Amino acid sequence: MNTTDFTEKRTRLLKEIQDEARQTRKWTGRAAFSDRVMKAIAGVPRDQFMSPDEVAFSYVNRPYSIGHGQTISQPYIVALMSDLLDIQPDHRILEVGTGCGYQTAVLASLAGRVYSLEIIPQLADGAARRLERLGFANVSLQVGDGGQGWADAAPFDGIMVTAAAPQMPACLPEQLAPGGRLVIPIGKAGGEQRLMLGVKDESGRLDIKPVLPVAFVPLVEG
Ligand code: SAH
Repeated sequence: MNTTDFTEKRTRLLKEIQDEARQTRKWTGRAAFSDRVMKAIAGVPRDQFMSPDEVAFSYVNRPYSIGHGQTISQPYIVALMSDLLDIQPDHRILEVGTGCGYQTAVLASLAGRVYSLEIIPQLADGAARRLERLGFANVSLQVGDGGQGWADAAPFDGIMVTAAAPQMPACLPEQLAPGGRLVIPIGKAGGEQRLMLGVKDESGRLDIKPVLPVAFVPLVEG
């Protein structure tokens, strides 16, 4: 597998993501993802985050196993969740569920600083190594239960949870700044799940609505 093959596959993947955005418009309300998000996706080499035996599938629009019972998310979902947060270059973003660090890298390409929590130490170590090798200096990683958020670094302009919770962990909306946005899959492990988008108004109220049926690994209780 050489880089030329990946270049073609990456271009095709970007088109597939925008096609899927169009097809899911009736749920998401977005017929296309922003140029900034698509540039961030284009700029992150997913092949660096895959498990070595599946590198050939790096630019296939599907989730893949990364070991420890966890997955690297589907690129379309990474694009959708990033787009829903409307991230600006000065934003501070909290991610719950670093995993291999792929979504973290996309967020770090869009935001000022990304704080990411991972409950499995080996995955956090691997993500730290990859992100450092790729030169992402605006990422803070910590091993811990993301269900508790990251109080010391709050408030955040955006919060993204990349594992499904049975219900909204109470402290996450509390760590969101007024005007901030939160995306989280809510539902049972292996059962019905909905990606939810919450927007906090200036008075601190979280307006939350369903976006799309999804299938995520469960948020482990710490
Ligand atoms: N963001 C990843 C996908 C991560 S899969 C990507 O870029 O593709 C979900 C991750 O959430 C797994 O690594 C899992 O270990 C982690 N996780 C599950 N429960 C957690 C918790 N309570 N706190 C922090 N991380 C958690």
